[in-house]
Amino acid sequence: MTAQRILVLGTGGTIAGWGSGATGAAYRPGGVALESLVAHLATLGLAAELVPEEIARIGSQDIGWAEWRALHAACTAALADPQIGGILIAHGTDTAEETGFLLDLTLPTTKPIVLVGAMRPADAVGADGMRNFANAVKVACDPQAAGRGVMLVMGDAVLAARDARKAATSSVDAFRSFPRGPLARVTPASIDWFGPPHRMGAAARYPFPPELPRVAILAAGAGMDERPVQALLGIGARGIVLAGMGQGNAPRVVIDALARAAASGVPVVRATRVDEGLVDRNVEVDDDALGLVAARALGPAKARMLLMVLIANGIVDPARVQAAFGAG
Ligand code: GLU
Repeated sequence: MTAQRILVLGTGGTIAGWGSGATGAAYRPGGVALESLVAHLATLGLAAELVPEEIARIGSQDIGWAEWRALHAACTAALADPQIGGILIAHGTDTAEETGFLLDLTLPTTKPIVLVGAMRPADAVGADGMRNFANAVKVACDPQAAGRGVMLVMGDAVLAARDARKAATSSVDAFRSFPRGPLARVTPASIDWFGPPHRMGAAARYPFPPELPRVAILAAGAGMDERPVQALLGIGARGIVLAGMGQGNAPRVVIDALARAAASGVPVVRATRVDEGLVDRNVEVDDDALGLVAARALGPAKARMLLMVLIANGIVDPARVQAAFGAG
């Protein structure tokens, strides 16, 4: 059997981090060139030919429109290239869930697309990057990985980008998957999928937009007033995601201000600041009367990505926005 050709797109992050020494703390995300990482991977005896392409060498807190557009273009070209079997994206963990979800929304699912990161820099004692990388190569080479949308491989688990969420700042087991659990367990020796592919049809859900509108996340806190809502509208927010309390709640004056924003044509999505939060319609807030949208299982960071894509594609009506977030 010939080795699969896998495109490896580098963006930086801790997986390419360097400078901590074996036991130090401070380091530079993206300090190692992708070529060096891939050259080291080649010595591990993986059954794949890796083709590196560096998009950026940054901490993922600095990732944004330019890198997303470059990643989308590189993935689109690789999906059309019969020589490429799958795509790996080395990424910082801080915003892996945002990049992964954006690509999940805007790319077809015909070949595996796998994000991979690390919690420890490449020169730290017990570095996790090479193991995660080896696992991710295994996933990207597996024909059963297609049709599952964009995935994230960390800590011997394969998570759907739609469900993955960073839940710890320093543990190597930093990601959780909500509302579904992991899609698979993977080690350098084995891979076990827990169900069949779930994406119906291979096409992208949404076209990749020519630009992304300003969508703000409003963090709810006890005792706050409505002025932050007015401030967001004042800086031209085209949509607002509430990181609310509990079931997407906020003080009455804030909800009323958000309802006025919605009435003026600025879509408002109620998410929750709670870790494993499912926000349903019309529980304590009367979404039907106020023109608001419930985020369902998407947390604030991912709700913002989806709302940006929807607005960019002209979808602003609350009923259509709700349909995209899932009914219920
Ligand atoms: N903040 C950096 C980033 O997200 C380092 C964190 C990491 O990669 O784990 O790129």
